[in-house]
Amino acid sequence: MKHPQNAEGKFWIDQEVCVACSACFEEAPNNIKFDDTRGTSYFYKQPETDDELHAVREAVELCPVEAPKEGE
Ligand code: SF4
Repeated sequence: MKHPQNAEGKFWIDQEVCVACSACFEEAPNNIKFDDTRGTSYFYKQPETDDELHAVREAVELCPVEAPKEGE
């Protein structure tokens, strides 16, 4: 399930899978934030530059539970 505030675009985080480990938003703080209320991370901005895209792909790789998704 996508976070309701997930920025429109191909990257998103499965709210039911995220275990709030913090790896992704530490790696890609320009694009991923932690929602304290829900206790999960979400994409508040899709990557717009090569640097952001690189950081986001690193963040996806770092996730221990494969919660971040690229595409549908
Ligand atoms: S790396 Fe994965 S488990 Fe950790 S906060 Fe991000 S989405 Fe959640």
